[in-house]
Amino acid sequence: MAKRLWIAFAALLLCAGAASAQDAKTVLQTAQKAMGDVTSIQYSGTGHLNSFGQAYTPGGEWPVTKLTSYAKTIDYGSKSAKEEITHSEPNPPVKGGGRPFAGDEKLVYFVSGQFAWDQPGSTPVPQPGAAGERQLQIWLTPHGFLKAAMENNATAKKGAAGTVVSFETGKFKVEGTINAQNMVTKTDTWLPNPVLGDMPVETTFSGYKDFSGVKFPTTIVQKQGGSPVLELTVSSMNVNPGLSLSVPDGVKTASVPSIRVQSQKLGDGIWFVGGGSHNSMVVEFPTYITVIEGPLGEARSLAVIAEAKRLVPNKPLKYLINTHSHFDHAGGVRTYVAEGATIITQEINVPFYQKAWAAPRTLNPDELAKSSTEANFIGVREKYVLSEGDRTLEIYHESGSMHNPGMLIVYFPRDKILEEADDYTPDTPQVPAPSGVRPPIFMANLLKQIQALKLDVATVAPMHGPVVPYSDMEKAASSGKG
Ligand SMILES: [Zn+2]
Repeated sequence: MAKRLWIAFAALLLCAGAASAQDAKTVLQTAQKAMGDVTSIQYSGTGHLNSFGQAYTPGGEWPVTKLTSYAKTIDYGSKSAKEEITHSEPNPPVKGGGRPFAGDEKLVYFVSGQFAWDQPGSTPVPQPGAAGERQLQIWLTPHGFLKAAMENNATAKKGAAGTVVSFETGKFKVEGTINAQNMVTKTDTWLPNPVLGDMPVETTFSGYKDFSGVKFPTTIVQKQGGSPVLELTVSSMNVNPGLSLSVPDGVKTASVPSIRVQSQKLGDGIWFVGGGSHNSMVVEFPTYITVIEGPLGEARSLAVIAEAKRLVPNKPLKYLINTHSHFDHAGGVRTYVAEGATIITQEINVPFYQKAWAAPRTLNPDELAKSSTEANFIGVREKYVLSEGDRTLEIYHESGSMHNPGMLIVYFPRDKILEEADDYTPDTPQVPAPSGVRPPIFMANLLKQIQALKLDVATVAPMHGPVVPYSDMEKAASSGKG
């Protein structure tokens, strides 16, 4: 009896599965007929582009910029796309980081199969790590979604706003909603992010119009991590414009660059660790190590931690000081938790990290996801001092910052060194410059803080760019160049 019931149940399951795939095929074919099929597409317009990961407050909206021109051309068959963007700081300016703070910024992104590169000027810049996500973006467009769903054994189920069609491509899961008029109204996927884990990417399509016999939305909004990254009002769309890209030679041979770590001794037991776009500092205490800043992601953190252990052998890494919650400065912090360090950050960041770090991390599990370690925080309000033996570090909240309200700076009283992030970036020909010149208001606020706290600074150790004498920063502030 039990066995017969089981067989009946299994048969029912099989039928349900087959019906679901069959349903998907019909739904997709009907949608493709209603929307019109294309081999390539080009759409353009204006709107807003946001600086992902650069929110003013932790968990807030990504700072907005004015998208003055946008064009995307996709050739579905060759899995190629070209995205051309011009954006600028809105007037009045918004708070937060990451924007082009002065003038227009032009961005041009390419993907062709397994190759990705940027080419805003005449020289292509290989982006060997970016092809997967840029290809995925092709399948998140209405016509791309239908094509990818047909090729990847999609299944269908009823949802609140229409039929929800799902499929997998590589390690990514993609879902799309097709409404009663057979239009794709939404696509969803998840991307691995060092701060947010499996981060939702939701793209919505509305205001469908007929462009030369093909239906295309006039409003496209993409949210990443719950907040918009792109809001586009489509003004024109070309059907089958074609796109034949030839992959530049340098792009074909490019590989993901290895992580460079270069340390420089600034004083007894104090090292500046550079070598890339973001710096850290290693500080030796009598019985432990403190690192300032865990930027970018786990790969950088592992390299900096290895360097810290080489510089200071046989001492535990007890503290990681995080300057602020912008993702480029916070992406590597979790690795320090896995290493056993306590995280010192401004108190407004603590609930944000606790919530963000609780998200699932199935797409790219990091060391912390694989361990059972719990994160320990010290939330700093205005001042916190780390002191042992003759080593003292003073950690201050930089209040009044337009860049981030939870910014910490670190002062070494004996050595007269000041560590700061994003307020002042010294010019240098060797080190990759951060995007966008820092506005003078960031530096002016830092100077005001230094004066109010009566800090006697001789040397600035910035988290972007090289170590410089404090007089360089004073000169830069008086010339208005940050
Ligand atoms: Zn920042």
